[in-house]
Amino acid sequence: MGGNYLIELKNLKKHFRVSGGKGEGRHVRAVDGVSLSIREGETLGLVGESGCGKTTLGRTAIRLYDPTAGAILYRGEDITRAKIKPYRRKLQIIFQDPSASLNPRMTVGEIVGEAIDIHGLAPNKAARAERIADLLDQVGLNGEQANRYPHEFSGGQQQRIGIARALAVEPEFIVCDEPISALDVSIQSQIVNMLEDMQASHRLTYLFIAHDISIVRYISSRIGVMYLGKLVELSPRDEIYKMPVHPYTRTLFSAVPIPDPAKSRAMSRVILEGDIPSPINPPSGCRFHTRCPYMTDRCRDEEPELAERSPGHWAACHLSA
Ligand code: SF4
Repeated sequence: MGGNYLIELKNLKKHFRVSGGKGEGRHVRAVDGVSLSIREGETLGLVGESGCGKTTLGRTAIRLYDPTAGAILYRGEDITRAKIKPYRRKLQIIFQDPSASLNPRMTVGEIVGEAIDIHGLAPNKAARAERIADLLDQVGLNGEQANRYPHEFSGGQQQRIGIARALAVEPEFIVCDEPISALDVSIQSQIVNMLEDMQASHRLTYLFIAHDISIVRYISSRIGVMYLGKLVELSPRDEIYKMPVHPYTRTLFSAVPIPDPAKSRAMSRVILEGDIPSPINPPSGCRFHTRCPYMTDRCRDEEPELAERSPGHWAACHLSA
């Protein structure tokens, strides 16, 4: 993979030790060896069932979690174990549940202003107030609302506050962690459109995590698919919709209605059975083999490598090798 990458993840792992219960002393292998690179200015969509590790990957990529192994490069610089404070401004996150991510005892002005203060981005009180008002304005709120508390706002407005807080520190890379899934359908597209506008005006790079494939299709230039801590497919957006390679991707994408009946027929439907296995003790070989209709003995024994099948289109499956 060449090019101007803002973020590079190399064989990144994040394991959590389990305490109490049946798994005591063992580890949840939430992210278990993921490599991917994100170009400056692009949106990389990341999809997969709940529990596949996509949120953990996003949080580890910006060092909200310290990785268990592997490397994180920001502008080619290894920040895996570096002191994160100098980079924190540049690496931000927008959370899924805006009401839980905003301190209910702080006013909106304090929430946005706190980020400005931590990084010393306003020389005086007047500049700080002006900056808060400007940020609220950019996300479709107004400066007069700075003295109000989060509970006085709707879910969509709360997410706008979360976005203003992220933008306050002039980031370059934002992990959008299912930023619209807790919102009413009627306002989801407004938030997505706003994120797109912000990307253009602030030259932002996004890792956009979602379980809603249609939103990811709309906003992303490339799409990655995760299953049980692994990246199983990575491709330019249009190609992965037209020609998904990995059987797991096909199950995800065949669940999305396709407006063109001819294309719908061409895309053979794969039915996914059973629950996602435990990430404490994942299946041997290909982790998808316990649910894959095409499983062979080789799949049980040998882990497929993520390999390039056509330019920019990577998949980890013995069938397509
Ligand atoms: Fe299915 Fe085997 Fe491919 Fe895994 S490697 S997705 S089990 S065919």
